Amino acid sequence: MKDVINLNDSDTSISVFKDIVRKFVEKRNWTKYHTAKNLVQAINCEAGELSHLLLFKEYSKEAIWNDEALLTNLTDEIADVFIYLISLINSLNLDLSQIFAKKMEKNKEKYNLKEYNNGLYDKK
Ligand SMILES: [Mg+2]
Repeated sequence: MKDVINLNDSDTSISVFKDIVRKFVEKRNWTKYHTAKNLVQAINCEAGELSHLLLFKEYSKEAIWNDEALLTNLTDEIADVFIYLISLINSLNLDLSQIFAKKMEKNKEKYNLKEYNNGLYDKK
C-alpha cells in the first residue's frame, strides 16, 4: 500500500483510496457500523460541516487560498466527505469508475450541448 502522506491525484488510482479506507475501517473493527444508511448519513453530516464553513459568507477563491485556517478546515471536510463516500462504495462493492462513467453519459444527455451552452439555457 502506498504511503497515505505521499498521495497525489496524478498517480493515485481509485483502488488505492478504496484499499486505504477499507484497511482503516477493518483495523478499527468498524465494518459492522458501516451500513449504507449510516454511511449516507455520515456523508450528509460531513457535507453539512463543509457547508457550515461557508454559511452566510462570500469568499472568492483567492480569499480562501489566502486564509490558511479556512483552507485547512475546508480541505479537512472535503476529505471527510470523500472518505465516507469511498467507504459507502466499499460497503456496497461498487466500482466507482463504472458508476461515474454511466452517470456522466446520463448527464451528457440530460444537459446536452444543444440546449445547454455556456451555462445559459437556450429556450429555442
Ligand atoms: Mg468533519
